[in-house]
Amino acid sequence: MFKNLSNINQQQLKVWVEQALAQTKLGNLPTYIPLLEEANPNSFAVVCQSIDNHITFLGDVETKVPLMSVIKPFLLFYLLSKFGSEFVFQKVGKECSQKPFNSLEQLEADRGWPRNPMINSGAIALSSLLPGNTATQRCENFCSWLNNHENCQLFLDKNMLASVSSLPNHNNQAIAKKLVESGYIKDAEITLDTYNQICCLSGSIFDVANLGMLLVKPPNTDWKKHCSIVQDLMTTCGLYEASSNYAIKIGIPTKSSVSGIVLGAVPSTGVIICYSPPLDRQGNSVAGLFLLEVISRNLELSVLC
Ligand code: GLN
Repeated sequence: MFKNLSNINQQQLKVWVEQALAQTKLGNLPTYIPLLEEANPNSFAVVCQSIDNHITFLGDVETKVPLMSVIKPFLLFYLLSKFGSEFVFQKVGKECSQKPFNSLEQLEADRGWPRNPMINSGAIALSSLLPGNTATQRCENFCSWLNNHENCQLFLDKNMLASVSSLPNHNNQAIAKKLVESGYIKDAEITLDTYNQICCLSGSIFDVANLGMLLVKPPNTDWKKHCSIVQDLMTTCGLYEASSNYAIKIGIPTKSSVSGIVLGAVPSTGVIICYSPPLDRQGNSVAGLFLLEVISRNLELSVLC
């Protein structure tokens, strides 16, 4: 069936958004990054952008939000396009995990092999491959590449980075240490610094939608192959231990973040970006997932049926 995002009805979208907003009371703000804990739980934005750039939106679409884990599919895409899949998948697996996104237990059970690029261990391992001598250079190179390839103005939010660094993240530190022991990264400090910086790349919800087009509108056959790999991993791992549940309910390659973004990338069709800070127990935006599910069901966007 021909899937289409360009004829989404604004009135209908408004009704679905109201239903989604009623869900936010079921979620909580994260507590380990002070600035995210201070976010307004009622902030909300949604942008639906079709492959032919037809845009429907509602809410605070100009709010600047840190990408956090939404950077992970783009990190994978960038490295695939630079180094190819054989090299990249020597550093990270393609297997889903039934444990939380920052699980050290999973990494230890796998003897230091990071399961997939959508969880912290995998993204930390991949951060070490970014070209550049310092964390700042690595983040800047990556950010410029993204901004040059898509119509977006991502920037490093230094206040967010300071907030991330203001409380020690023992989990991520232990993950980086384990990755050094298992030989997947060399330098824990510079790698974690790089990872934290790229998680603090920020933009408006419009920017995130434009960025998302990278994953659904590849300009050549090489990139098309990379897009398929990234989309598959988003479907199987993008929502952590809730991924298989939502693969069935939503059926769209999806990535969430602790900042409350949910990015749905509908292959060859367009992107749906939702932003709402309260999170469920897995760290996924409650209202974001609700809205994505309603849109997918009503517009029959699932890639699995
Ligand atoms: N920077 C965050 C962390 O490492 C990203 C996690 C997320 O968005 N789920 O905890």
